[in-house]
This record gives sequence, C-alpha cells and structure tokens, in this order.
Amino acid sequence: MMNQTPDTTKQLTYLAAALKAPRILEASNRLAVQARDNNWGYEEYLAAVLEREVSARDTSGAQIRVRSAGFPSRKTLDDFDHDAQPAIRGQIAALTSGAWLTEARNIVLLGPPGTGKTHLAIGLGIQACRQGHRVLFATAVDWVTRLTDAHKTGRLPTELTRLSRYSLIIIDEVGYLPFEQDAANLFFQLVSSRYEHASLILTSNLPFSGWGTVFGDQAVAAAMIDRIVHHADVLTLKGASYRLRNHDINQLPSIKAQKVAD
Ligand code: ADP
Ligand code: MG
Repeated sequence: MMNQTPDTTKQLTYLAAALKAPRILEASNRLAVQARDNNWGYEEYLAAVLEREVSARDTSGAQIRVRSAGFPSRKTLDDFDHDAQPAIRGQIAALTSGAWLTEARNIVLLGPPGTGKTHLAIGLGIQACRQGHRVLFATAVDWVTRLTDAHKTGRLPTELTRLSRYSLIIIDEVGYLPFEQDAANLFFQLVSSRYEHASLILTSNLPFSGWGTVFGDQAVAAAMIDRIVHHADVLTLKGASYRLRNHDINQLPSIKAQKVAD
C-alpha cells in the first residue's frame, strides 16, 4: 500500500466525520504503517481499522450502560472469590457466555446474608452491560415503590413496556420486607410481563418456601415462583458471611472479656 497523499487524508477526515466514526481516521493512519511493515492484505487492513472503531464503541457503550444501570457498587465476577462458594463455581462459569440473556432465562440467587448474592447479581449485571445489554438494578422495595407510583398515575402499562426494553432487570433483596397485597400484585405483574421475554435476576435470603409470607398469599407466591423458575438457574449460596470470614469469633472483645471472667 502507498503512503497516504494529502488528498486521501482529507477525504478520510471527511468520510470518518460523515460516518461519525472518529477512530477510523486515527486507526487508518496508524494501522497503515503496520500493514505495510507486515504485508497485510487489503481485507485484513480494512478489518483491523473497523475493529478499532467497533471495539471503542462497545467500550463506551458498556460504560454508559453500567452507569445507567443503578448498581449500588461496582462488583465484578472477577472480584468474586469462588473458593468461598465452590458448589456454584460450575453454574457461574456456565453463565459467562451470556446465552441466558438471549434465551430470556432468569437467575435466582438464594442464601444467608453476606454470602455474595448482591455481589454476584451486580457482577452478572456488569457482564451483561459489557455484552451489549441494557440493565436496571434496584431492590424489591424500590421496584415496588416505582411500580406503585406508575400505577397511581395510570402509567403502569407504559412503565412495564418501557422496562421490557431492558434485557435484564435485577431485583435485589426479595423478602427483606413483606409486601402489602397491592404491592405483591404489582410485583407479580412485573414478573409476568417479562416471562419468556426478558431476563430477571432475583436475590433472596429466604428459600422459596418462605415467599408466601413475603407476598402475603401462598397462591400468588406459587404462581410467581412458577413463572420465575420455569426457565431459570437457581444458585444456592452457603456458609457464613464473607464479611466476617477473617474475624475469628473468639477474637471479638466481648467474648474475650467473658473468657477472662471465666
Ligand atoms: P449478600 O447480598 O448475600 O448479603 P453481599 O453480596 O452484599 O452479600 O456480600 C457482602 C460483602 O462481601 C460484599 O462486600 C461482597 O463484595 C463481599 N463478598 C461476599 N462474598 C464474596 C466472595 N465470594 N468473594 C469476594 N467478595 C465477596
Ligand atoms: Mg445483598
């Protein structure tokens, strides 16, 4: 390939701006040098230039999606210590391809406090953003508040349609507080609106058997669980809180003092 003439550079500047693809201009120059040095074919060079533009778009798109998802913190799957939850290591690995999102499957994370449910929900959510999906995160209580507001102003159908454009909705802390009947019905509508259409991640400290109490009605809870788990991976986290893993309970001051008193 010949060196670019000033005319070609001008034309590329114009074309890159017209395509709103600024990195094409920068990459075309830089990669042309590499292409000449390494005898790339024309197709190879074109692919390399376009690849730079596409990957830059993906990265900035992913950042925007992560920022607008409403994650309470930025926890990633890479930060997760799998040795603390060996039983679900294989299940998590199987989810990294992201196929569950295109298949509109759900994920349910169950387990005691501090075992990493929220961490994994955020990590899977961030990964979904990186894979090009739009994601929204909120606690169950927040979701019910939003839906109640929409319902009161007659916007519930519009709101559910708007939410259906998100590939993934994360509902953290189901069961922290029991719901009033109206709230339980709104929650049920959210779950139903996404059934076999778009994914949900739910986290809960309670086993499914405890959900009847949360939703105030065994039948509503059963119908909801049925829709959620029909196409779902249920990950059960176990053990003590990760926050307390390095705190030997015998080291706590109150217990020490008691020992001395013994
Ligand atoms: P849960 O939602 O189950 O109550 P969290 O996900 O909030 O628990 O975890 C509590 C804290 O411990 C968080 O700071 C989280 O990042 C951390 N944590 C929990 N499990 C792990 C783990 N296996 N590897 C790394 N950090 C973890
Ligand atoms: Mg949590």
